[in-house]
Amino acid sequence: LKELFPEDVLKLSRDLSDGEVEFLRQMVEMLETKYRPNLAKNWANAEVPEGFFEDMGNIGYLTNPLLFQGREGKQTTSQLFQFFFAFTLSRFDISLNTLLGVHSGLGLNSFVFGGDDRQRNEYVPKLATHQLRTCFALTEPEHGSDVAWGLDTTAKKVGDKWILNGAKRWIGGANVADVIPVYAQDVETNKPKCFIVKRNQTGVKIDVIQDKIALKIVPNCNIYLEDVEVLEEDRLQNINSFKDIAKVLFSTRAGVAFMATGAMAGALQATLKYVKQRDQFGKKISSYQLVQEKLAMMQANVANAMALCVQIARLQEDGDYDEVVTSVGKMLNALRLRETVAMGRGICGGNGILVENDIARFFADAEAVYTYEGTHEINALVIGRSLTGQAAFN
Ligand code: FAD
Repeated sequence: LKELFPEDVLKLSRDLSDGEVEFLRQMVEMLETKYRPNLAKNWANAEVPEGFFEDMGNIGYLTNPLLFQGREGKQTTSQLFQFFFAFTLSRFDISLNTLLGVHSGLGLNSFVFGGDDRQRNEYVPKLATHQLRTCFALTEPEHGSDVAWGLDTTAKKVGDKWILNGAKRWIGGANVADVIPVYAQDVETNKPKCFIVKRNQTGVKIDVIQDKIALKIVPNCNIYLEDVEVLEEDRLQNINSFKDIAKVLFSTRAGVAFMATGAMAGALQATLKYVKQRDQFGKKISSYQLVQEKLAMMQANVANAMALCVQIARLQEDGDYDEVVTSVGKMLNALRLRETVAMGRGICGGNGILVENDIARFFADAEAVYTYEGTHEINALVIGRSLTGQAAFN
């Protein structure tokens, strides 16, 4: 375990099962041998590494029998594993974890929570094994933090069909998704609903947002919808209010806390690698006290964030967690990530701004983690509402 998780000084990974450890070991080997060599180039060129999505489907991170040893009769992997899975993947690269997370988290859970039995049976097994790809289309050009206020994308019922019009923004992986859960406002009831839109159907136009400075590997997309027709049977039947959407968002927000923690560990490893080979004043810079203090703070941040995530995972496993817990996890770990990558970037000097040194990638990507799945401020307001009983936002 020390070799697999050198930054786990609190030995939290001891509670993983042998099967879970073996799975993660195999995944690390695949990532390092197949994807490490071109990772910096993929990031610089804003390209998804070829075969990544298929490989992750093949190793079966949601279905592999190794993950169910000792969990006979369980339908889902353990939450502790979910944490260490996100930790391990984002320690390698945050974009890849984000890309996968939007498919298997917000996207898949739109079908899990939003679908009726028929829709769940039709889509969930295919999505879980990557036979089909999905994404999550909620945010709009004019509505980010305030999506609960109402969406500009409209849905009008005509006979047994719905007609969708509007636009979506920032949608990760929409350009390669087979089925897109599009959230839109029913013009009759003024309540949001969710529609299964096919990428290539008439009236759908998708373009990839260019020139991002963070998560460059993730193709974030604009989606334009013009008189797009969706049958009532392709409307996710159990999404009929913002409360229903909140269930989907709530199901994955802790995942961002998990991801931020792995990214901190990735920044620590990248920084350690650099300072151990860089000489100044005739000595390795890793030998200087001020450098070691920063490394120590980075390590302490990782340990702290891991402990928080493991407790969140335990509460999730018991079904005993709430929005305050998830907001604390997302807000705090994203903030600590920003601090951690900045320390690492600083002690890597000028070379720390070059993409060929992994710290630069973590430094840039941390900015997106800070913003998505509820900004720092919005998560703070969720916690503030619970502390004071007063909502500072609607
Ligand atoms: P805004 O809402 O405009 O916020 C701007 C600033 O104002 C923030 O600092 C915010 O905290 C602050 N603010 C807003 N309201 C208040 C308030 N009441 N009090 C105090 N401060 C406030 N969306 C999807 O649907 N699907 C995706 O796949 C997806 N992927 C994403 C990937 C990336 C890389 C990014 C950057 C975003 C993605 N998003 C996605 C959208 C993301 O969820 C939004 O960016 C996020 O909700 C914030 O919205 P916004 O960017 O419009 O910022």
